[in-house]
Amino acid sequence: MNVARYFDHNATAPVLLSIQDEVAEFIKNEWANPSATYLKGREEKIILQDSRKALADWLKIDPLEWIFTSGASESNALVFYTLDHQSQDSEFIRSHGLRKKIITSSIEHPSVIENAKFLSQKKGYQWVQIPISKEGNIDYEYLENQIDNSTLLVSFMAASNETGLVFDIQKIAKMAKNQGAYFHTDATQALGKIDLNLEDVDYASFSAHKVNAFKGIGGLVVKNKCPLLPLIKGGGQERFRRAGTENIMGVWSFKKAAEFYQSGQKTLEFQNIKKMRDDFELKILESLGGVQVTHQSSLRLPNTTHLFFDDIQTQSLLINLDLKGYAVSVGSACSSGALRPSQTLLGMGYSARQALQGLRVSFGLGNKSSEIDQFILEIKNSVAKTRSISKPPSVLFAEEVKV
Ligand code: PMP
Repeated sequence: MNVARYFDHNATAPVLLSIQDEVAEFIKNEWANPSATYLKGREEKIILQDSRKALADWLKIDPLEWIFTSGASESNALVFYTLDHQSQDSEFIRSHGLRKKIITSSIEHPSVIENAKFLSQKKGYQWVQIPISKEGNIDYEYLENQIDNSTLLVSFMAASNETGLVFDIQKIAKMAKNQGAYFHTDATQALGKIDLNLEDVDYASFSAHKVNAFKGIGGLVVKNKCPLLPLIKGGGQERFRRAGTENIMGVWSFKKAAEFYQSGQKTLEFQNIKKMRDDFELKILESLGGVQVTHQSSLRLPNTTHLFFDDIQTQSLLINLDLKGYAVSVGSACSSGALRPSQTLLGMGYSARQALQGLRVSFGLGNKSSEIDQFILEIKNSVAKTRSISKPPSVLFAEEVKV
């Protein structure tokens, strides 16, 4: 597909040109096992160490605080698994008391939500979800009152994958610290898009493919003194914290992304991306009636826009745009390809039916300002076409109330 018409960078981002150019040479040479003691193995180990250092420099952490994983889903699972097991340890109970309360926002990614749900349904934890309003507000006073000395973990994403809403994670981390609770942030969408301060954060999750590196590689920041129990047990890789032969090609791609994202080239590209997003919103709002931008007056990621269109089924819009060669996203597609209501919109108080609406447009490397006017024209045409054949939502919602 034409990358310039790809507007779904929060789902995954195209691989950096520098990685594309060098990958064939890399796999020709770097195939040995990094745990092997002979020279070739030691060379791979150096790549592993250099990459860990590049990521640590980017995040301003100690390299020993970084564990390579397969991605943010695994990293999130690792935190919940560790703290569940730790909280049952008699030593831990002696020092911390019995802690069986978990607090998250109401709009976390399913890879956090499902872990919290599991602990509350199967392991007797109390799970408190802090509501996020349709306007993007969070009641920090309510959150602070909820965090008490029975709280084991507070987990808040750094930025929403769907609306781009940015949370003040340092502020929340301090609240957790005051009560002796651990603080985890799913920073998958924030990396590379906004400045991340992990100073008071205990755990942070990442996926390389969101920053234009490969899929199947990610990481978890585990601050010094925070517990970590291996979810995948076996060999001694990652200092016995994550077994399995290292994905050295993925690790290398993540390092290349770390280097790119700290370079001046990235700064220039992202200034342009923010301008493209802002122009896009302005023009869409000017030229189409019945459109709202979600969380528009809150602090958001510079590349993300989430829109609601009155009187249309967003799925039809998505199909029309797809036929024209544009990739955007609506709700969350489950593995069967069918659509299910977006967790984020449900978490903001929308009904299941409303949570199937809403269009996410996420910009990134490869998008061009020159494409935006044509893109807007296609959206306008598709919306007009869809509106002319859709049932008005008022009828749909009336039916919904009856069922
Ligand atoms: N958290 C967030 C906020 C995400 O956007 C994603 C990817 N959509 C994940 C976690 C999971 O990442 P992965 O699929 O790479 O494990």
